[in-house]
Amino acid sequence: MNLAIRSREQYVGLADKGGVMQGAYFSRSTFLAAANDWEVAAMHAQADELSRAGVSLKVTEGSDIQKSIPCLASNISGLVEVQGEGHAVGYKVVDRFLRASGAKVICEASALKLQPGVKSGRGPTVQTSEGVIEADDVVVAAGLGSNALLPWLNLWPRRGQLIVTERRRSVYKLPGNFIFASYLLEKKKADVGQSVDSGSAARACALVIDPLPYDQYLIGGTREEDDDDQHTEFAAVQRILARAVEYMPFLGEMSVIRVFAGVRAATPDGLPYLGQVKEAPGLWVATGFEGDGICLAPLAGDAMARMMAGKDIPPGVEALAPDSPQRKRRES
Ligand SMILES: Cc1cc2nc3c(=O)[nH]c(=O)nc-3n(C[C@H](O)[C@H](O)[C@H](O)COP(=O)(O)OP(=O)(O)OC[C@H]3O[C@@H](n4cnc5c(N)ncnc54)[C@H](O)[C@@H]3O)c2cc1C
Repeated sequence: MNLAIRSREQYVGLADKGGVMQGAYFSRSTFLAAANDWEVAAMHAQADELSRAGVSLKVTEGSDIQKSIPCLASNISGLVEVQGEGHAVGYKVVDRFLRASGAKVICEASALKLQPGVKSGRGPTVQTSEGVIEADDVVVAAGLGSNALLPWLNLWPRRGQLIVTERRRSVYKLPGNFIFASYLLEKKKADVGQSVDSGSAARACALVIDPLPYDQYLIGGTREEDDDDQHTEFAAVQRILARAVEYMPFLGEMSVIRVFAGVRAATPDGLPYLGQVKEAPGLWVATGFEGDGICLAPLAGDAMARMMAGKDIPPGVEALAPDSPQRKRRES
């Protein structure tokens, strides 16, 4: 959470006038919402953690909830506004960072094999589909594909199915992203290593409703363990939509134009791998970001550059070292 807050602050700085993220990052609030007693408890637990980390919150209770957000159904009994949050458009973020780096980009190439460097000698060598690349330093940042290059990382897939609505200007404009407590509960389970969705649509109830910049809504999403197949399932989509319309009835008036699935790269302890590989000179890892990689992008890139240059890193980043013995490993 602390690293995410720091990364968000970096986004704000980068999105200032003339900054590299101007037009790719927008400030807005996030709303946590809950529909029953245990969801309200989960929501307040999350809010307490945020508050301890210094985030400003606004708690709304009782009938004030529907007064402040009129499109919420009457069964929503808890609401917390998390202020100073933001929305980063993932593909724009990637494009902006790549352009700003001035790096030479070789598209449509696969890294096939990695040869570690030797102490006080040459750095790692990467065999690619476009030839061999030798470098002083190599960062493995290939999402789930990192497993093929460094199998000991043992990342595993967590699929998410998402829904996109049509554009409709006339409907109620949500003031921010809505995360329902069912989503927090699913995410917490995953972070403490409990088994979560195993591909069954029956558990597809973790709900997030996100207003997109062009009057569309992104509605998600499942968290399905050990599933790297990017297909979508009618039953899961139906279930997510039913829940979305139950909590925000105006969505029932809109048409769905697209459903899709993506796969998150998960680690056993829910933390990304960011740092140098011990005993492998010049080899670095930046992967395992699960459902937080867009949020953590500025922090991860900056911390990686600092580590490589031997500079100080933000507190907490040292705990992300990929082969630290303290980190939980997954039984194969
Ligand atoms: C449904 C869903 C919802 C999400 N919601 C959010 C959210 O709200 N907020 C958030 O912050 N994050 C979210 N994420 C997570 C975010 O998308 C990821 O954390 C992020 O994309 C990880 O970035 P990455 O660069 O590590 O990996 P990737 O985005 O997977 O990029 C890795 C790249 O490496 C390439 N590659 C793989 N193997 C090789 C190889 N051998 N050679 C060359 N290239 C290779 C791949 O093709 C890919 O382009 C979500 C993800 C999903 C699936």
